[in-house]
Amino acid sequence: MNIGIKQFVVIVCLFWSPGKLVSQEKIRSKEPNIIVIVSDDAGYADFGVYGGKEIPTPNIDLIAGNGILFSDAYVSASVCAPSRAGILTGRYQQRFGFEHNISNKPADGYQLSDIGLDPNEKTIGDHMKSNGYRTIAIGKWHQGEEEKHFPLNRGFDEFYGFLEGHRDFFAYRKERARKFAMFDNHQIVPESEIGYLTDMFTERASLFITENQDKPFFMYLAYNAVHVPMNAKPELMNKFSYIPDKGRRAYAAMMASLDEGVGSIVNVLQKNDLFDNTLIVFINDNGAATGNFSDNGHLRGLKGSKWEGGIRVACLMQWPGHIPAGKKYNQTVSALDIVPTAIAAAGGRHAGIKPLDGKDLLPFISGRNDKTPHKILFWRRGVAAAVRNGEWKLIRSGPQNPVLLFNLKKDISETTNLASRYPAKVKRLSEQLEKWEKTIDKPHWESAYGDYNQIMKHRMEVSGREMELKYP
Ligand code: CA
Repeated sequence: MNIGIKQFVVIVCLFWSPGKLVSQEKIRSKEPNIIVIVSDDAGYADFGVYGGKEIPTPNIDLIAGNGILFSDAYVSASVCAPSRAGILTGRYQQRFGFEHNISNKPADGYQLSDIGLDPNEKTIGDHMKSNGYRTIAIGKWHQGEEEKHFPLNRGFDEFYGFLEGHRDFFAYRKERARKFAMFDNHQIVPESEIGYLTDMFTERASLFITENQDKPFFMYLAYNAVHVPMNAKPELMNKFSYIPDKGRRAYAAMMASLDEGVGSIVNVLQKNDLFDNTLIVFINDNGAATGNFSDNGHLRGLKGSKWEGGIRVACLMQWPGHIPAGKKYNQTVSALDIVPTAIAAAGGRHAGIKPLDGKDLLPFISGRNDKTPHKILFWRRGVAAAVRNGEWKLIRSGPQNPVLLFNLKKDISETTNLASRYPAKVKRLSEQLEKWEKTIDKPHWESAYGDYNQIMKHRMEVSGREMELKYP
């Protein structure tokens, strides 16, 4: 007997009994929970698995042990807000005018209230909801301060965090603007109830996991650690008394709180028997900052720049039984890949029709596809732009500066500008960059700093933290 899908559904419904609901739930729970953990302004070389020696990060390192370490993972911007817009949408954020960090300078044709993630874009929360997930955003939002930008209107069922790009980790003693307040959904958490922010985010994340075991969940857990201000817990400062520099000691203590948080979350998953059925991505939002005592190791440059130290970040992923464990993946990947990877793992439904710039990484990291997910990647923030194609990288930072060309395979620290030796390569990469620029929008707001720092940052003679501190 041949039956069509409609008849099959009718037959199944006829024989469906209330007792079968249990098995339906079991089928549902096969879809993995997905947790995206974001750290803020951490140094590439400050994680144990990326060679860090001074600050133990055993819990974060364990994600690499349970899954994949990405050596060549890039964010789509070297500052917080546009990088997070890329993570949240899976699209180059310049496509919707989110080129600069949040400022108060709307571009011509835009209002102050337009500054934030364009309401016409879909977020990872929207995509996960269309796959039947319960969603939460925890931590730093930094995607606009208007109601239309509020996480509860951007694909998230719950929000526990703050709207600005930073805030104190402890309670404020004086009155602050609303954007610095801690929100529990729409309610402002009184400052008298603020303990230590990193721990508060971890506790809420743990609670959400415990409360949502019957339905797959998605969690965007955007810690503001280890962004300034350098607020560390006193007991952890004591633990790192072997670090002589006080700023670096505070950074280490803040990293320790972040690492403890990741450990607690994995623990809660294990306790609730959800460990195997949860896909975890850990990613840092941009390279080491000039002012937080972080360390990019052998990568040149810092946050805000197109040097590797600005855009190449720590990135780990685990999904036991689905992706290999304890492996290093050396092909070029992007933070833009998180959205399509999550969609693929969750069931494949998109909330919108706009094309994504990221790729589903699952076939690549599981070995089913041995090509590179991205032959070419682009960056632009104002006057400074860059392109990486294979082992070659070009940085263009205005007519005042020479174009820079590096071979990352031979010169990962970007010490030798090869532009004059390979003019044809410079021409080709410049053309590819310009072609991409034709596909993006103009910035919807301007940078708070202007172009000067960007121009100065990308000169060969400007090297080292001391010099870069002058051009944050
Ligand atoms: Ca950041």
